[in-house]
Amino acid sequence: MQSAVTRSLLSLLIVVMLAPSGAAADAARAEAAARIRADVEFLADDSLEGREAGTDGYDDAADYVVRRLKEIGAQPANRDGWRQKIRLRSAVRDLDASRFIINSADGAEELRHLDDYIAARSYSRAGFHVEAPVVYVGYGVVAPEDGVDAYQGLDVAGKIVVAFDGAPPGMNTEKRAFYAKGEVKLSYAAERGAAGFVAMPTKAEIARNKWPRVVSGAKAAGMTFFGPNRRPLIAAPDVRAVATLNESGARKLFKGEEIDYDALLAGEDGGKGAPKGFNLRKSATLSGRSFLSDATSANVIGIIRGSDRRLAKEVVLITAHLDHLGVTPGRKPGEDAIYNGAVDNASGVAVMLEAARMMADAGERPKRTVAFVALTAEEKGLLGSQYMTIYSPFTGRRAVADINIDMPVALFPFTDVIAFGAERSTIGATVEIAASEMGVALAADPMPDENFFVRSDHYSFIKAGVPSIFLRLGFSNGGEKALQDFLRDHYHQPSDDATLPIDYDALARFADLNYRIAREIADAPEAPAWNEGDFFGELFSAE
Ligand SMILES: [Zn+2]
Repeated sequence: MQSAVTRSLLSLLIVVMLAPSGAAADAARAEAAARIRADVEFLADDSLEGREAGTDGYDDAADYVVRRLKEIGAQPANRDGWRQKIRLRSAVRDLDASRFIINSADGAEELRHLDDYIAARSYSRAGFHVEAPVVYVGYGVVAPEDGVDAYQGLDVAGKIVVAFDGAPPGMNTEKRAFYAKGEVKLSYAAERGAAGFVAMPTKAEIARNKWPRVVSGAKAAGMTFFGPNRRPLIAAPDVRAVATLNESGARKLFKGEEIDYDALLAGEDGGKGAPKGFNLRKSATLSGRSFLSDATSANVIGIIRGSDRRLAKEVVLITAHLDHLGVTPGRKPGEDAIYNGAVDNASGVAVMLEAARMMADAGERPKRTVAFVALTAEEKGLLGSQYMTIYSPFTGRRAVADINIDMPVALFPFTDVIAFGAERSTIGATVEIAASEMGVALAADPMPDENFFVRSDHYSFIKAGVPSIFLRLGFSNGGEKALQDFLRDHYHQPSDDATLPIDYDALARFADLNYRIAREIADAPEAPAWNEGDFFGELFSAE
């Protein structure tokens, strides 16, 4: 096997020999930027009403992507056509039906919904109601390889556990992001027979003041899809009652305990990790209910068939979610309430389409099949991608890699990228080659607390054992300020629209970079493989 360095030198040489002259390259890049701009402006238009999964606006966006894929010369993934239809269940909290009552020797205290806590949505008609003793379990994480077991010595069967958000400090950032995920922590509680799970904020979260955003999202619909047993798929259904406390709610729950919330916070802070678990002197009553409705939405999938008979059975995916947050309910006249999602993720879909265009126009077809996928219901919890991994749309073919594009905050001319997942599989070497060909530097994750690695669709493919990557633009050359400003002022707000100063030339270069990575994977003799002993590879891969 050649080293990555030799291969990158070789490909550099090839690029130098084959690259079009400066002026021609500039013209091609300008054309790509114009196509991307047209796609973003269409998809982020008010007429699509924020492209929420299950709405007409989303379906219109999906029709547009089908049109564009046809124009580019892609083909439908199978006989069913371009769309993989998904039945979704939607749940909107009944804000009056939630209860969180703390029962102690001193009497009962009822917490105030939205001021102290938020009850989880329920996807079943009955809602939930649990009355049980409360056990504090640190971060609620079980990581034997790191000697971590938050449940050690505690019996939580039939009880309500309460845990800090996040995961113990000191772990590798992507691994920590895995352990911080709600579904993972719920699974540990479920394995031990817990009946309820309550999350509470860490010191870092309190400092970031996430609560107002959590509250504003509380009125929005949540979704899941109907799973293999024809029931709405949810993580850990036996953990029936789930809620999230804020600082004031947590303080009330731990009032009068030997170690109260402020003492827990003091221990949690400073990198020492959360204090050990213990039984509270209290029990709690937790209930909630949601208004339910069902809807249908579709992933859009176009393919370019591989030219090699054997390798064509393997599929390299380029994915980008097409859905966004719709329209704020109860909008007042004159108020901008449409979540256009220009950056998140019309720009990612446009980049995916440009990568498809490059693949189709490359002259020679790729050896492996390449699929271009606009995913639905990412904003509802990575649903479209998760559905694809359960119900494969590729008859007789299997996915071997996913390259995901989500929210490239291309508001500046980037010079470096962060390649999430790259160091976990042989895709890492491919990314190095492609980046060096384009003179783009690779940087380490500068914001590990954001857990970006587990927050977009590539993570569904990782969970299905498929080596995957997710590129974000780096902090150099103005990237840090651009990202921080975007997250503060526009992320998941109606102002994320096409009037933002999107750098379409940067998006064209980003499309080129993702295309090169996909192309290299599609033509390589071997399909991508997890690196020996990789945490996610060992956890999820079938071998
Ligand atoms: Zn989003």
